[in-house]
Amino acid sequence: MHSDPNCVFCKIVAGAIPALRVFEDADVLAFLDVGPLSEGHALAIPKEHFPTLEDMPADRFALVASRLPRIADAVRRAVGAQGCNLLLNVGREAGQEVPHLHWHIIPRVAGDKLGYRWNASTYPPGRGEEVRQAVKDALEA
Ligand code: AMP
Repeated sequence: MHSDPNCVFCKIVAGAIPALRVFEDADVLAFLDVGPLSEGHALAIPKEHFPTLEDMPADRFALVASRLPRIADAVRRAVGAQGCNLLLNVGREAGQEVPHLHWHIIPRVAGDKLGYRWNASTYPPGRGEEVRQAVKDALEA
C-alpha cells in the first residue's frame, strides 16, 4: 500500500500523529476534522496515499465511497444533525489543501450559518451544447 512519509494524513494512518478516529477498516479511515465547520465534521480517507482524484483508480474510489453512507449516518445521528454535506475538494483551485484525497462529512442542522449555495450562472444560448460535446469528447479521448 503506497504511503507518503511527508503526508499528514498518511502520518495519521500510521499512528505517527494523533487523530480522533471514528471509523477504521482495512482500507478506509475516518477521523474528526481538527478545524470543524460544525460539530462532528469528519474526514474519510483511503488508507493508501492518492494525492487527488486523477491519481485514484475507480475501484479504490468506489471502495471508500461505499463506506460513506454508514459513516455519514453515524456522524449525523451522533450529533443530532438532520443532514450533512459530503464534500470532495479536488485540486488546490477547488480548495484542496491536503493532497491526500479525502471526503468531508459536514453535519448540518436547521438554521445553521454554514450556507452552501454558490453563485450560480447560466449558459448563453448554444454554450451548454458546446460544453456537453467537449465533455463527451473528453470521455472518449
Ligand atoms: P481540504 O481543504 O479539503 O484539503 O481539507 C483539509 C482538511 O483537513 C481541513 O478541514 C483541515 O482542518 C483538516 N486537517 C488538516 N490537518 C488535520 C489533522 N492533523 N487532523 C485532522 N484534520 C486535519
